[in-house]
Amino acid sequence: MKKIKILFFAILLIITLLWLTADTFLSQDFLFFAVRSSLISYTGLIGIGVMSIAMILALRPVFMEPVTGGLDKTYRLHKWLGITGLVISIMHWLLVKAPKWMIGWGMLERPARGPRPEQTNSIFIFFQEQRGLAESIGEWAFYAVVILLSLALIKKFPYKHFFKTHRLLPIVYLFLVFHSVVLTPFYYWNQAIAPVMAILMLGGTVAAIISLSRKVGYHRKAIGEITQLEYFTDNRVLSIDIKLLSHWRGHQTGQFAFVTFDKDEGAHPFTISSSWNNDGHINFMVKGLGDYTNAMPRTLKKGDLASIEGPYGRFMFNGDKPRQIWIGGGIGITPFIARLQKLSTEKHNQIIHLFYSTSAPQEDFIERLRKLAEKAKVTLHVIVSGKDPRLNADRICNIVPDWQTADIWFCGPAGFGKSLKKDMIQKGLSEDYFHQELFNMR
Ligand SMILES: Cc1cc2nc3c(=O)[nH]c(=O)nc-3n(C[C@H](O)[C@H](O)[C@H](O)COP(=O)(O)OP(=O)(O)OC[C@H]3O[C@@H](n4cnc5c(N)ncnc54)[C@H](O)[C@@H]3O)c2cc1C
Repeated sequence: MKKIKILFFAILLIITLLWLTADTFLSQDFLFFAVRSSLISYTGLIGIGVMSIAMILALRPVFMEPVTGGLDKTYRLHKWLGITGLVISIMHWLLVKAPKWMIGWGMLERPARGPRPEQTNSIFIFFQEQRGLAESIGEWAFYAVVILLSLALIKKFPYKHFFKTHRLLPIVYLFLVFHSVVLTPFYYWNQAIAPVMAILMLGGTVAAIISLSRKVGYHRKAIGEITQLEYFTDNRVLSIDIKLLSHWRGHQTGQFAFVTFDKDEGAHPFTISSSWNNDGHINFMVKGLGDYTNAMPRTLKKGDLASIEGPYGRFMFNGDKPRQIWIGGGIGITPFIARLQKLSTEKHNQIIHLFYSTSAPQEDFIERLRKLAEKAKVTLHVIVSGKDPRLNADRICNIVPDWQTADIWFCGPAGFGKSLKKDMIQKGLSEDYFHQELFNMR
């Protein structure tokens, strides 16, 4: 999370500095309408800048994963940029509208405006002619952005509807690019801000077109066939074995994929809970946590086809510490199962403790986990919530007294992860040694 915070503020800072060097903001007399004009440009630049980057990140760029710490974090950055885009757009709109309203109410005097400077460049002449259209388009696109981004942020708005409304954003974005290009002050085009914004908008435009043509992740997709289904009724986990029918580039343990079993439903992210042995087999374990995942044990059948896009993520257990502490809460156990499989086939000299916390213990599921942990030379601790003492930082540190020489890998409920991370950092663990998979992308 530290990485994406740094990236987020770096983006805002770079655009701000470029704007300051291009705009007359610092060299003016700070009269109301001059300040307003500079701030309209500033909010416009930040707005289209963050939306362009958010649009590019929606392509699930794998090259960004080492920078952000994984696709789940890339999506978190995408979300923050989207929220910033929303807030800044509202400010931009208010800067445009509020003075006009104040003039109408007699609270401000209309500024005396001379004629616009004569343009000789044919592109700028064209842009000048399009100003009215660009302003109207910008206003309507702004209203659409407010509705679409608000829906994205309202958690109660079901994911499957959010997913459909979110697909309209690239169209709105393209209108905003037109608005921004036409209304960018002409004198910016001689400054560094213009090429930077042009590159961002070009990247955003290409990303929007890829999104609209439904080609996101196209080159990372494989087709597979369900070969076996096993349902654990107590913990409501469905194990799905898939035989891949087309090329799969392989994966590291702990990575995840977007899996589509039903085209109308679309892709859902699931951790790949098997290690890759080059034999074309892959397994997912899915817990009924919502409408679709609850229906899966009834709707999926052997022989059904699935599209698997991936792999993604950086929850890959690579650390240089001699110990690792793994904590899997509920279905968050899936990446650890994959890792156990891998370690059970190779020699390793790391000391690993796995804490599996569950509120729905399923005997045969736990028994298999126990056997796998034994084979992988990993110490398993099963904690049944409501029955055993609560799993917290104190308990973990008591059970693993050498925790200072360990990396922590956590996958489970967000609230549990947040409080555990806070407590471990208070005890002296560096944030860099607490690795967490975010099981939620919205
Ligand atoms: C990186 C990652 C790995 C995951 N691994 C597993 C796993 O191994 N096993 C498992 O059981 N669950 C896993 N999940 C959670 C799983 O994706 C959701 O539980 C599932 O998508 C819920 O779908 P639903 O329609 O049943 O529930 P809903 O009630 O529609 O959604 C519940 C929540 O799940 C998320 N969600 C729903 N649909 C999607 C989607 N298409 N894309 C992204 N998020 C969505 C949203 O946050 C939503 O609020 C993982 C999630 C992520 C992000």
